[in-house]
Amino acid sequence: MRDSRLKAVVCLILSLNLHMLAQAPVPANRVVVLRAARMLDVKAAKEIQNPVVIIEDTRIKAVGAGLAVPAGAEVIDLGSATLMPGLIDAHTHLLQNYDFALGGDDNNMVLTVAQMSPAERALLGAKMGREDLEAGITTVRDVGNSGVNGDVALRRAINRGWVSGPRIVACTRALSAAGGQFGTLQHDAQNLVEQEYVPIATVDDARRAVQQALYDGADCIKVIVNTGPRVVSLEEMKAIVEEAHRVHKKVAAHAIGDDATRIAAEAGVDSIEHAYVVPDDVLKRMADKKIFLVPTDYPAEIYNSFIPASATPAERKEQAAALNKFAESSRDRIRRAMAAGVRIAAGSDEYYQMGTRTRGESSTLIYQAYKESGMTPWQIIQAATMNAAELLGWDDHIGSIESGKFADIVATAGDPSADISELQKVKFVMKGGEVIRNGLNAKSDR
Ligand SMILES: [Zn+2]
Repeated sequence: MRDSRLKAVVCLILSLNLHMLAQAPVPANRVVVLRAARMLDVKAAKEIQNPVVIIEDTRIKAVGAGLAVPAGAEVIDLGSATLMPGLIDAHTHLLQNYDFALGGDDNNMVLTVAQMSPAERALLGAKMGREDLEAGITTVRDVGNSGVNGDVALRRAINRGWVSGPRIVACTRALSAAGGQFGTLQHDAQNLVEQEYVPIATVDDARRAVQQALYDGADCIKVIVNTGPRVVSLEEMKAIVEEAHRVHKKVAAHAIGDDATRIAAEAGVDSIEHAYVVPDDVLKRMADKKIFLVPTDYPAEIYNSFIPASATPAERKEQAAALNKFAESSRDRIRRAMAAGVRIAAGSDEYYQMGTRTRGESSTLIYQAYKESGMTPWQIIQAATMNAAELLGWDDHIGSIESGKFADIVATAGDPSADISELQKVKFVMKGGEVIRNGLNAKSDR
């Protein structure tokens, strides 16, 4: 009797110890003070001049203009820089880094899944994660394509301090209709599918798949609502959302087109990813149900830069016209979403090696596309901080610089609320009170 009560208490403590928020230990009672010329208060969309942020161990103890520096604190003075909360990427794939030269998603997916073990992919993810963190992305939601639970392995390695990377919300394998997102696979090769996706065909499958994801260590559930003509049914989607929400996990839905976005919105998912094609009545429904849009958009010139060098001038012209049209229609759907009152959370959907850019450098290109869609700098900053934090269900811990939250703080030389391109040039990164990078030649007196 006593034993089982003790066990229950231990279980309770373990379940309260949110594994996703854990991090490598920082020496206890270390007090660090950050100072800079200004700080972005993302909730109020206003600047605070001469901010002082007092950090004890991993969290922010106090923040305000001109606060007194506690005796014995380590002071990091970032001079004329701007402080803001760490960036959050609500849609990424750290355990994938595709090669354009292999010819698109279908070829890359087969080679990645067939040739790389989840262990090897987790090591790739460690590199991608470090590159994200160094660019100022202190938290990511990793939405599948990690092999069998490679994302959970990476999350644990980062939380234990084995490797340096962002906080990770992991989804494990995405639920999908038959075939996942694979292109053509012959019968004997179709065993690859379950190494990357959990295909479902009934409501019972859907419930079982959510339970499996939870057992595997998922913090969230990712569903591929449609791939080509294969669409998860409304009944299956409702069962997924019910099972996930019952245990307070969020559901991210990859959905493109009228039917898939309508099914996702109707089922009450927490975010719709991509939605490159989405009708106005679905956007209205998303606004009513407070469903976030995660627009995984890049500037047109980035799409154009990946037209193969082998294309003839005529092919190049045709492809450029199609890509420009796609970029314009994506900008239009952000404008329609904002007009409908849909909130936006920033997400890169980065999974290709983009030239010589680091993963962090390519993932932060999305802000430029958001700007070209008419979002203001403050709207973009909020999408990449407080909105994404809310979507992840971590808004008590991250997404703004407030007392009690993790000291996940970045700094830029210029002011991102005036020039959003500053977010592509983050100079200083702190995660949980630990300085990851400082390229500001700061005066630090210890
Ligand atoms: Zn994706």
